[in-house]
Amino acid sequence: MLAEIKGLNEECGVFAIWGHEKAAEMTYYGLHAMQHRGQEGAGIVTSDKEMLYLHKGNGLINEVFQEGEFNRLRGSAALGHVRYATQGGGGYENVQPLLFRSQRNSMALAHNGNLVNAYALKNQLEAQGSILQTTSDTEVIAHLIKRSGHLAMEEAIKQALGMIKGAYAFSILTEDKLYVALDPRGLRPLSIGKLGDAYVVASETCAFDLIGATYEREVKPGELITIDDTGLTTTSFSSQMQRTLCSMEYVYFSRPDSNLDGLNVHASRKTMGKQLAYESPVEADVVTGVPDSSISAAIGFSEASGIPYELGLIKNRYVGRTFIQPSQELREQGVKMKLSPVRGIVNGKRVIMVDDSIVRGTTSRRIVRLLKEAGAKEVHVRIASPPIENPCYYGIDTSTKGELIAANHAVDDMCEIIGADSLAFLTTEGLEKSIVNESNSHEHGICKACFTGNYPTEIYPNTVLPAYKE
Ligand code: SF4
Repeated sequence: MLAEIKGLNEECGVFAIWGHEKAAEMTYYGLHAMQHRGQEGAGIVTSDKEMLYLHKGNGLINEVFQEGEFNRLRGSAALGHVRYATQGGGGYENVQPLLFRSQRNSMALAHNGNLVNAYALKNQLEAQGSILQTTSDTEVIAHLIKRSGHLAMEEAIKQALGMIKGAYAFSILTEDKLYVALDPRGLRPLSIGKLGDAYVVASETCAFDLIGATYEREVKPGELITIDDTGLTTTSFSSQMQRTLCSMEYVYFSRPDSNLDGLNVHASRKTMGKQLAYESPVEADVVTGVPDSSISAAIGFSEASGIPYELGLIKNRYVGRTFIQPSQELREQGVKMKLSPVRGIVNGKRVIMVDDSIVRGTTSRRIVRLLKEAGAKEVHVRIASPPIENPCYYGIDTSTKGELIAANHAVDDMCEIIGADSLAFLTTEGLEKSIVNESNSHEHGICKACFTGNYPTEIYPNTVLPAYKE
């Protein structure tokens, strides 16, 4: 599905490398592979062991970086970030990595996720005299680390990590070290790889593939990794907990060629589609998926049901970001610009339209209408995830509860609202079965809180939704 019209947005992507002569260029390519995780801003900080060098800006990675920038970004270590700007949280100052210079040592931070106690920590920091320059959680982490400046850096980071709560996968680059940490529940994805002798870190493994790096392992929940010229050392900053990796990474956010916890995203989506076909079969002539993220599930549905998969919807790949428009009327136009039904395929047919999720329902309604206008006799909507009834507090903009169609309507009502002939969702058990199995269940739990309302961490009274963070 198309993130910008769906109201479902990933927060960010992080990439870092240590020990490579083309560190900045490799980071550029790594970020390029993860551009789908954020299109509003991008930045790279490098270290030549004496100084940190920064370039960042608003826009896509290839808009922010021109060839000349790489001459300035010196050194064999780099940290990069692509960002999705939350509402009111845009602006150059919030583009990451954030760079903090000081006399003792400088540091750059890049972060993916959301702190559920950021509001309380900001109040506390301000009451103690800190002046925050940005509205991002990342700066809070930096201040907490700097407050423990009398300690060795690793200890200062551990102390700061002990104070923050929520979902975070972040990297810190100093002149002589790279630090990587994942929250105690492992809500956000973060992997370690090797490129020759260099260490690489990325939110998604598709970044490794693009630069020819090999995957080594996941960063473990509650792990703090330190990388420098002597190699990699690891320590734990919290007691061992069952991982609860965001299941929406499998459903929708991650690229199909990425592996999360060793499980390929395309393969897991196909299993979701198969499971959906077993759970909610329907007689029809063709199965089609809403491009791009629903194609894998649609193939799975087709395989399990025996109903042929067809390209009933085509995505126009050359629509630029300028078509992200807020008004209802322009959004309406947006779907027509971005998706076209294939009349020759759907005309006179009973169509199963597989989509990954429904957030507000407006996009589903428009796509059903597009298919019917193109002659589809019936449109049966099958959603390869459970109904999203609860907001996410962990860095995914899923809209507020009032905007979530499934939070306010029963499935029959939703079916009527979107104008479909039938509507069914994957069950929560079906989702879990598609991702977690006996062989991987020790390491591999998932978060399903937006479906079930059972949040894996405390949620503080003042936790601000990512979409309304500021
Ligand atoms: S609440 Fe939903 S979107 Fe948020 S981390 Fe959990 S599974 Fe992912």
